[in-house]
Amino acid sequence: MSRIRLLPETVASQVAAGEVVERPASVIKELVENSLDAAARKIDILIRRGGISLMRVSDDGHGMDRDDALLSLERHATSKIRQAADLAAIATLGFRGEALPSIASVSRFRLTTREPNALAGTEIVVNGGKIDIVRDGGEAPGTQVEVRSLFYNLPARRKFLRSQNTETRNIEHQLHLQAIGHWRIAFTFVRDEQTVFQLPPAATLRDRIRDLYGADLLARLLPVSGADLDKIDISGFIGRAGVSRQTRAQQLVFVNGRAVENPVVSAALREGYHTALMKGQFPVTFLFLNLDPAAVDVNVHPAKREVRFRDPRAVHETVVSAIRHTLESGRPDWEQKFRAPISPIGGTTSVSSQTAPSELPQLETDFALRGQRSVELTPRAEPITPSSAIMGRDPFDELRAGRARPSGDQQFQIIGVLNKLYVLMENADGLVLVDQHAAHERILFEELRRRMEKQGVPTQRLLLAQTFDLPPRDAEWVERNMSILQKMGIGIESFGPNTFKIDSLPAFLQTSDPITFMQRVIDDLKSASERTSPMRLGEETIAKTVCRHAVKANDPLRYLEVEKLVQDLLACDLPYCCPHGRPTMIQISLAELEKKFGRKV
Ligand code: ADP
Ligand code: MG
Repeated sequence: MSRIRLLPETVASQVAAGEVVERPASVIKELVENSLDAAARKIDILIRRGGISLMRVSDDGHGMDRDDALLSLERHATSKIRQAADLAAIATLGFRGEALPSIASVSRFRLTTREPNALAGTEIVVNGGKIDIVRDGGEAPGTQVEVRSLFYNLPARRKFLRSQNTETRNIEHQLHLQAIGHWRIAFTFVRDEQTVFQLPPAATLRDRIRDLYGADLLARLLPVSGADLDKIDISGFIGRAGVSRQTRAQQLVFVNGRAVENPVVSAALREGYHTALMKGQFPVTFLFLNLDPAAVDVNVHPAKREVRFRDPRAVHETVVSAIRHTLESGRPDWEQKFRAPISPIGGTTSVSSQTAPSELPQLETDFALRGQRSVELTPRAEPITPSSAIMGRDPFDELRAGRARPSGDQQFQIIGVLNKLYVLMENADGLVLVDQHAAHERILFEELRRRMEKQGVPTQRLLLAQTFDLPPRDAEWVERNMSILQKMGIGIESFGPNTFKIDSLPAFLQTSDPITFMQRVIDDLKSASERTSPMRLGEETIAKTVCRHAVKANDPLRYLEVEKLVQDLLACDLPYCCPHGRPTMIQISLAELEKKFGRKV
C-alpha cells in the first residue's frame, strides 16, 4: 500500500505560507516588494486592526493582463527569473514566485490590476486558496491587493499572532525599511482610518530621513564617507559617536536595495564603532551597500531577509573602515563646540574674562579655577605615537596619522564647574557641558592603552605590600588574568592558595586602599564575564574597567586644572565618548534655552 501522496496545490501553498507569511508584516513586505518590482512611483498602504482584519497595498506600477494575473496566483510562477542561472544575479526584490499564492491560501484575497494602456482591468477574488471570482474590473492603472482575515482558515496560526499593537508596530517597521530603502518612491500609510505618514517622492535619502524621522535625528547623523573599495559601494548615514539605541530597530542595512539582517555587517558595525558605542546598545544606521548582484546570494531565506556574501571579508573591511572614516569626519564639527564665542573686542579675552574670581556666581569650584577666561589650546607636548598591534588593531590608527590636531589658536571658555562634576563652557551656540568623569576615563584609557603597548605603565610602590584573600572562583579569575593586570601596572602576585599580594599600583591611580580597589574591579569584571564567555575578557575590557574604578577612586580627581582635562580630552583619538560609550560632552543651545524660558515658541 502506498503511503506517499502528492499534496493538493492549496495545501502545498499553505505549507509554503508557513515560511513566507509569518505575520501581517510579512504580507506587507511581499506586497510592497511586488509593487516596487513593478516600477511603481507611488505606493499606498492601508491596514486595519494590526493588519489582521485588512491590509491593502495599491500601486501605480505596470500592472498585469488577465492571463498574467491568473498565473501570478500559481505556485512558482514569476516574471523575474527564467532559469537556474538567473539565481546567481538577482536584480529584483522578488524571485521565488511564492508570495501571492501563499498569501491567497491563508486569507480572503482580492487582486485588481490593469495595464496602463489596457481598456479593462481584471479582478480576481480568492478565498483560502480557491479562486471564486474572475471578472473585468475598471480600476486605475496599476495593481491593488487586498488581504482580509489573515489565517481565518488556519486557527492554529491565528493563535500565534500577537496583539494588534505589536502587529501594527511590526508593519510600521517594515514600511520604514521600505520607505528608507526606496526614497524616490512616494508612500502613504493609513492605519485604522488615520494617516500615519504621507511621504512625497524624495530627491535624496537625506530628505526621506527628515520626512520620516524629523530634523532632530538627521542632525545627529553623519553622511557615510570615504571608503569605497573596488567592488563595494557604500553610502548612507550613520549616528555620530555616542548616538545609540537599545534595540536594533534603527540599525537599517540595505544590500542592493534590500533590507537585510546580516551577521557580517552587524559585527563590522560594532567593530567600526568600537568604544563609541555603549555596551548592549545598537548604532543608528541607514547604510547602503551596493555590489555586483553576482557577489550576493539572496536565496538563503524564504522571507529573503538574509543574504550571504561571496566575499564576507571584503564586506567586513569596507564597512569597518567606512564607519571609522565617517565617525572621524564628525570630529571638526565636534571640536568646534569647544571654541569660545568670538568676542566683539577681539583677541583671546572676552568681556567677562575681566571678572574677578570673587565676583563669580556661586559655582562649585573644586578645581583651581582662576576666574572665567579663555584658554589657549595647545597641542599636547608629548606626540602621540601610533600604537602597534598588541591590543588588537587600534581602530583609529590609520586615521590618526592623517588628522590635524586642534590648532594652537583654538580657545575655549570655561565658566565653572557644576556639582564638582560638569565643566561648563560657553561657545557660540550656547552652553557646553563636559562630564569630567567620562572625559577622565577616556583620557586614562587611551593613555593606559598606549603605555601598555610600550610595556611601560609607570607604577608606584606601596609603602607596605598588602595581602588579601579571594573566594576560589575569583582567585581563579585573577590567576588567569594576572599577566594583563601586571601589564597595567598592578603589582599583583600569588601568595599562597587563594591569597594574593599587591606591592605596587599604576601611578595614575591615587588610592589609599588598593584592596578595595582590586575587589571592585574584580566584581565588575566578573559580572561582565557572566554576560560573555566566562574567564575570557580581553585586555581592552579589563583596561576599561580599571580606568572606571581609577576615576571613581581618585577623589578629588587627578586633574587639578580643568583646562588640562579639556585639552587632554581634545587630544584623544576618540574623544566623544568614555570607553564605555557614554558621551563626554553635551551641548545645550541658546535656542533650547530660549524655548525653556519662553522667549521663543
Ligand atoms: P515573485 O515576486 O517572487 O515573482 P509573487 O508571488 O510575489 O512572486 O508574484 C508573482 C508575479 O506576479 C510576479 O513575478 C509579478 O510578475 C506579478 N506581480 C505581483 N505583484 C504585482 C504588482 N503589484 N504589479 C505587477 N505585477 C505583479
Ligand atoms: Mg513577490
